[in-house]
Parts: sequence; structure tokens; C-alpha cells
Amino acid sequence: MDVLSPPAAKKAKSVHCHTLDDLFGIKALLSDEYKKEIRLIKVHSCELESKQQLQAVIQELAQKLPHFQHLKRVHDRNVLICPTADIKDTLEQHLKQHQISDHVLKALCRNVNVVEVPANSAKLRVQYDQMVKYWPCKFHPDKYAESLQNGSNFTSSQRLYHKRMAQLLRHLSRDLNQGQPVAICVDPRQPSIVAIAGSSNSEGSHQHCVMWLVDHVARSQQGGAWQSQVDFVQDEQQHAAKTLRGLPQNYYDYLQSHEHCKDLQYGAELPRRGSEKQPEDELGTSVDNLSKYGPYLCTGYDIYLLREPCLMCAMALVHSRVKRIFFLEQSKNGALASSFQLHGVKELNHHYEVFQFTTTS
Ligand SMILES: [Zn+2]
Repeated sequence: MDVLSPPAAKKAKSVHCHTLDDLFGIKALLSDEYKKEIRLIKVHSCELESKQQLQAVIQELAQKLPHFQHLKRVHDRNVLICPTADIKDTLEQHLKQHQISDHVLKALCRNVNVVEVPANSAKLRVQYDQMVKYWPCKFHPDKYAESLQNGSNFTSSQRLYHKRMAQLLRHLSRDLNQGQPVAICVDPRQPSIVAIAGSSNSEGSHQHCVMWLVDHVARSQQGGAWQSQVDFVQDEQQHAAKTLRGLPQNYYDYLQSHEHCKDLQYGAELPRRGSEKQPEDELGTSVDNLSKYGPYLCTGYDIYLLREPCLMCAMALVHSRVKRIFFLEQSKNGALASSFQLHGVKELNHHYEVFQFTTTS
């Protein structure tokens, strides 16, 4: 279906709201620690003879075998001692090695059995609900993570904007780039389109459209290293607050000539020299380094991609300090959903959020 020309029956309604809601949903791609499946480990537990023993036992275990911070150590008179995997010889020897006093050791070595308990803390309520079936857990709800999980993180106007960008990707790819990938960078504060890039088959193997986009964003900050055949928009006023330098002329002309794009904003804030005023934050992103310090690489920016990026491009977006990535189509060597989840790698020094548009077409 051509999303630029909705079916006659829908034309009477507010075109963008209804056709876009029919076409796109937005799903947060959370890293594995937010997945529903929980991991269990085997643990030695014992049943104390009386509740009077509890205080002494708990105190000593907390000091000498400090395991299970995410679990309640005691359940009725049952106490978690240590993971079975920690024990080389016998439980008694293990406790002696850890200088457990004789009277506590005696209490712990009666009625010993092995139980399965959750290996990690719950990130989401849905995980917590699963975990407490095995053993009482501690849980600190994370409202933002819950909203990502249930899709309530965006307001309706934010959702609409994201979906419009998804629609734009399709049109730009189809009408200007022979169906090849297209990428858009947006400053979410206004929101305003900072840069656009397309790739084509004839380019070098490492010149994927994300790499071009990063370079075009750099152009908006008076940088940019790649030689391009593309003509870019020239800023008319020398001292304007925003620059259009990251926008290729043909993409900009196309957008300007389409009625449904007339209300979109374009341009990037220029790199700041001193302390200047902080713009409003329309897309609901909290005040961050972009608002505080002005543009630097892609700090605070959102990236919209037709295709899920490869590992090289996904890594380039980590280095560029991107805030969020939205993509439409999964790709075979994609590094965010299909073959890998780069944003779930804890060791990286920057993490972006990832969203996928779901489509019914
Ligand atoms: Zn790539």
C-alpha cells in the first residue's frame, strides 16, 4: 500500500494518525537480562530446628558466606547456605574453611537439602512473578524499564513522530535511493532532522549508510571526513542558530516539496562556544549532555534506519554516543536483533536504547 496516498475511506480522517497507527507499532528491544526466562542455580539449604537459631545463623552467614543479595536468605525456618557449585568436598568442610563457628555449623548441617533458586535479580515484575515461585526475592521496580516492556514509554505525539520517521525512511528509500537503505538523524528536543544519508551498491564495502550518516552529522558540526559526490544544503544566514549542512540537497528538496512534510523541522544546533541557553525537550528525553553542552558527535540524537545495522555500523553508533536507534527491517547480519545484541553488551562504555517498528503490511 502506498502510505503517501491512503485509501479513499481513510482520507477523511486525520491522515497521519490513522494510517500510521495501522501500519507501525514500536517495540523496545531489551537486552537479555530483561527477558522473561529466568536462570536457576542449585543451592544447599537447611531447615533450622528452631527460630531462636536464626539470628546467630544469619549474622554469621552474612559475614562469612555473603551470597544471594537478590534473595531473602530465610524462608520460614529454611536458610540458604551456598551454591552447590562452590563446594569441593563436603558442606561441613566448606563451612569450616570459611570459619563458621561450631554451634552455627551444627545448626546448618541438619536437614540439608538442595533447592533451585533464581540466579539473578529480577529486572521486571514479570520476572519477579516467576522467581518468587522458587524462593522469596527482593525486588526494586524500575518504572522506566517496565514502561519499555509494556510500550507505555512514549506519549501519543512521540509515537506519531517516530512512526512518521519510519514512513519517511520508506519513501526516501523508494523515491530517491532505488530501494537501498536510508538513515535519518534527529535531535529529539524540537524534534528536528539533523542529517540524512542513503547508501548505494556502488559504494565501497565499508561505506554503509550509517557510516555516511555519522559523517553527515559531523558536517553539521563543521567536521566530516568523507569525500562525497552529494550536494549539501547551504546555510543562508551565516549566523543562524541552526545549520542544514548535514542534509543532502536532493533529500531536502524532496521533503520541502511534499505537503505532508511541511510541518517537520530541519537543522542541527551549532556546536556551542560558551554557556548558552538550553532548548526545550519536546520528545520527553531527560536533560542530558546534548542539552547541557550542545552537539558533540551524536550525543543525545535519535537514529532512524530502514535496515537493522551490521556490527560495524552498530559499533560506530556506540562510538558516536547515539541515544536511541529505531529501525524498520531486520537484516541477516544485523547486530541489534538478528545475529547479535550489541546494546546488551555490558562491557561497552556507552549504551543506546533500541526500538523496532513492527508493521502489519
Ligand atoms: Zn553496516
